[in-house]
Amino acid sequence: MLEVKDLTKVFRSGEEVAVRALDSVSFRVEAGEMVAIMGPSGSGKSTLMHLIGCLDQPTEGKYFLDGEDVSLAGDNQLAEIRNQQVGFIFQQFNLLAKMSVLYNVEVPLIYAGVSRKQRRQRARDLLEEVGLGHRLDHYPTEISGGQKQRVAIARALANNPSLILADEPTGNLDSETEAEIMDIFHNLNEEGHTIILVTHSEKIGRHAQRILHLLDGRLIEDEVVV
Ligand code: ATP
Ligand code: MG
Repeated sequence: MLEVKDLTKVFRSGEEVAVRALDSVSFRVEAGEMVAIMGPSGSGKSTLMHLIGCLDQPTEGKYFLDGEDVSLAGDNQLAEIRNQQVGFIFQQFNLLAKMSVLYNVEVPLIYAGVSRKQRRQRARDLLEEVGLGHRLDHYPTEISGGQKQRVAIARALANNPSLILADEPTGNLDSETEAEIMDIFHNLNEEGHTIILVTHSEKIGRHAQRILHLLDGRLIEDEVVV
């Protein structure tokens, strides 16, 4: 499904010393796997997710997604991969505050050129699937944190991506809501979606089949969860 090879990301800002946020990281993820990425704050987890999600490009190294060499892709191609092949879920939900729940889920479908009628239907179905069929016309300010994350999950699924990336998806939620969101991820994984999620929580990490441990930008352990 995906392979990264010697992936390195160096950030340079102004006169400051460059930060090696990722240092020669290599691993593979097979289709259908659920993998957790763990490590202390600043160890490079989000940087890695951004590279895998084509939100950023590596300084060095290779990245293959579905057999395609993404490191060679131009800006237009990266945007297309981002929109069609990858669904991204963030800790802060990142919903459009001035738009309804339904519209938020339609957004990726607008970019994909889906007709209004079809995208409405698709967005409705997805929101139904995550248990929010009764909140279509609400605004993000009018729903709970767990509900916001359900909207974000529905939005990430809109284009039926093969790969779902989630950076601390339950970081802002209480433990009960966390369990509900993890149930959704399990269901998605059982349906065949490949999932990579970042977490600080050992408990959540144990939901995955494998845990990649990062420290100071390096992959220090590729742990199989038993
Ligand atoms: P957290 O658990 O706190 O979210 P993280 O593991 O996700 O941490 P990253 O956000 O990947 O950590 O950051 C890794 C390192 O890269 C940090 O030292 C950070 O300061 C640095 N860094 C991240 N983004 C940038 C940027 N855009 N410009 C400069 N440095 C950056
Ligand atoms: Mg982070």
